[in-house]
Amino acid sequence: MRVGVLALQGDFREHLAVLRGLGADAVPVRRASELDTVAGLVIPGGESSVMDKLSRAFGVAEPVTARIAAGMPVYGTCAGLIMLADRLLDGIAGQQTFGGLDVAVRRNAFGGQLDSFEADLPVPAFGDPPTHAVFIRAPVVESAAESVTPLVSLPDGRMVAVEQGGLIGTSFHPEIADDLRFHDYFLEKARAAA
Ligand code: GLN
Repeated sequence: MRVGVLALQGDFREHLAVLRGLGADAVPVRRASELDTVAGLVIPGGESSVMDKLSRAFGVAEPVTARIAAGMPVYGTCAGLIMLADRLLDGIAGQQTFGGLDVAVRRNAFGGQLDSFEADLPVPAFGDPPTHAVFIRAPVVESAAESVTPLVSLPDGRMVAVEQGGLIGTSFHPEIADDLRFHDYFLEKARAAA
């Protein structure tokens, strides 16, 4: 089973390293022919408006959207979560997403001093220890359909990690915090789908 990391922009190298460390055959995906070879896809952090433009310019936006609709497991972190959202708040003019996750996500939800921060947050589905969540100009999930399961929430109740079917999204970056459990969970879903 092979998985891909969308490698147009952002911290795709870190995700490739984590997935390979977990024993996966992980490859960068920049074009439709590469997407065809993978059973699941990670969409990294970066800048969602740039990722949106590049994915359309490279002709992978439509194939990714089609694979998501066909049930391909996808894990999106930060900008990747934004790309998975069906509804985007505070995007730039004309910004589009792949969609698939029945949520509204607000881009750059933490202004000013909270722009970037770290917090240890419980992940009930994974048990102990809590995850060391690193937020970098991060989005939040403002609302979600009932079919969406919250995985991690802030103390004020806002959702920062969710799951729906084969899709996982986190506002934060486990790939730079040495928490392998989200990638492991993604690989489980990809294996089941393959
Ligand atoms: N603020 C970025 C965006 O809008 C996301 C930041 C990140 O991925 N670390 O895409």
